Formats: sequence, C-alpha cells, structure tokens
Amino acid sequence: KAKQQGRNAYAWFSSDINDLASERVSLRNDLQEAIDHQGFELHYQPLMDRHGKIASVEALLRWPHPSKGYISPARFIPLAEATGQIMPISEWVLQRACQDMLALQRGGLGTLRVAVNLSPLQFHRDNFLATLRQTLAETGLPAEQLSLELTEGILMDNTASAIEILHALRNMRVSVSIDDFGTGYSSLSYLKHLPISTVKIDRSFIHELTNSSDDAAIVQGIISMAHHLGLSVVAEGVETHEQHQRLLSYHCDGFQGFGLARPMPLAELERLLAAQERATTPVNQ
Ligand code: C2E
Ligand code: MG
Ligand code: MG
Ligand code: MG
Repeated sequence: KAKQQGRNAYAWFSSDINDLASERVSLRNDLQEAIDHQGFELHYQPLMDRHGKIASVEALLRWPHPSKGYISPARFIPLAEATGQIMPISEWVLQRACQDMLALQRGGLGTLRVAVNLSPLQFHRDNFLATLRQTLAETGLPAEQLSLELTEGILMDNTASAIEILHALRNMRVSVSIDDFGTGYSSLSYLKHLPISTVKIDRSFIHELTNSSDDAAIVQGIISMAHHLGLSVVAEGVETHEQHQRLLSYHCDGFQGFGLARPMPLAELERLLAAQERATTPVNQ
C-alpha cells in the first residue's frame, strides 16, 4: 500500500513538473513574440529628493501578455535570463529609456536622469560597454543622464572584472546604484572600493521601519555608513507618510515608493512633470 501511495505521489509530482515545463515553454514562445513585435512597455517611477521634487525616474519593464494580462518582471525576467532572451529585451529597454528622456527634454520638461536595471547576464557580457556607448551615441542622451542599477549579486559574481567595468562606467560619467541593498550577502565595507554613487535600501527594511526597532537600526546604520563613504542613499518602497518622515529624520537623500508615486507610462510622467513645473514657477515670471 505504501508503495502504491508512493507511486501516486510520484505521478502527482511528475505531472506538476510537466505542467510547469510546458508553462515555461509557452511563456518562452510568447516572450519571443513580444521581442519580435515590440510587445513591451516601459513605465517610469519617480524618485523624489528631500524637497519632494522629482529627482530622477526608474525605468520598469512591463509586459502586457495578450491573454494573461500584465505579467510581472519578477516572473518573466528570470525566465528571459535562463533562455538568453534577456539580451534583446535589455537592449530595447536601454534604447527606449534614452529616447524617452530625450522626448521629455524636447517637450521642455527639463533634463531628467533615468535609472535602468541591469541583468547579471547583460553586465557580464563582453560587449556590454560597447553596446552601452553605442546606444548613448545613437540616441544622443548625455551619459550623465543615465544611471544603472545593479544588485549586490552581480558584483559578487566576478569581482575583478566587475570593478573594471564600474571604473569604465565612472569614466564615461554613467552613475551606478546598488539596488535592493541589504538583501545580498555583502557588507557595506565592500562598497568602500567600488566606484558607485548610490545605495538603494531594499523595501523589506522600509516596510517595518516604523514598527521594528531592528529595521530602524539597520536603516539608520546603512544611511550613516553610506554617507561616510560619500554615497547617497535612496529608500525603496516608501508607502506611508510615517515612513517618509522617519527617513527624512535619518537624513536619507532620496525616496521611491507607491506612497509618493507609482510606476507610470511616459505620457503620465509628462503630465506630472508639467504640473510640478507649474507649481514651482513664480506667477510673475
Ligand atoms: P527593482 O529594480 O527593485 O524595482 C522596484 C520594484 O518595486 C518595482 O517592481 C516597483 O514597481 C516596486 N515598487 C516601487 N515602489 C513600491 C512600493 O511602495 N511598494 C511595493 N510593494 N513595491 C514597490 P516591478 O516593476 O514589478 O519590478 C520588479 C523587479 O524586476 C525590479 O525590482 C527589477 O529587479 C526587475 N526589473 C524591472 N524592469 C527591469 C528591466 O528593464 N531590466 C531588468 N534586468 N530587470 C528589471
Ligand atoms: Mg531597480
Ligand atoms: Mg530595488
Ligand atoms: Mg527589488
């Protein structure tokens, strides 16, 4: 009897695996469709400075699936990384982000810096820097208006070549942020030698900031050490007024989260920037 149960359990297990595998195959085909026919969108989430002004935006990839609705990048990016499809997707993201920032500028909405998330595969590809230079040259976006977000893991993978790439980026005047800071296995001390400009504290620490004295201590510690190293600090996932106030009192430099602004399409960002412009321009000018 036990044996039979075992066999049933196995049958269940293997049919789950088959479902998962065929789900992956069909998602992979749908991804290819989106790559071939411009099926992605790029949304932008504002980052605010200490005065509540939009300091920059983060480009976030959106995939409106023809039958399943919007699929989260947290779900399809790992798949695209496994299949290599992340490469054409990443190139599209970078190009589109540069073009969109120039469109804002042409519309008189000022010069905004855009942050683009990098995948590990993209960063460690031999032609990464060449592709980046080419995209900047082709689109015409000044390098100072681009920043790249890397996770701690990307830097730990292959440290020597990662540091070389970071130095090349600094020479190009492209800035670099460490994303989701605090979730990796690294410590702040390893940042000492890296030419980066910003750490973004992961939203898991912000979530309990006002309820957990541990998280409050961690956040304060990250901010003060980062400042000692000459880095600026952005808090991710700021959802409440209390969190925002607390972070201001800790001297955090930048703020990103649903409580301030959600990711939005370019047209909506244009309206928001125009409204901000009106609010800060003196009437008698
Ligand atoms: P991330 O780079 O850490 O981006 C921030 C994520 O947090 C975004 O999720 C954003 O919508 C979400 N978020 C912002 N504020 C809040 C908040 O107040 N509360 C909560 N709960 N969430 C907030 P999204 O857009 O689903 O992206 C998930 C991840 O997918 C990103 O995390 C990034 O790692 C990756 N990703 C997104 N776009 C790209 C891309 O173009 N290329 C690559 N390689 N990865 C991307
Ligand atoms: Mg990011
Ligand atoms: Mg993040
Ligand atoms: Mg994240």
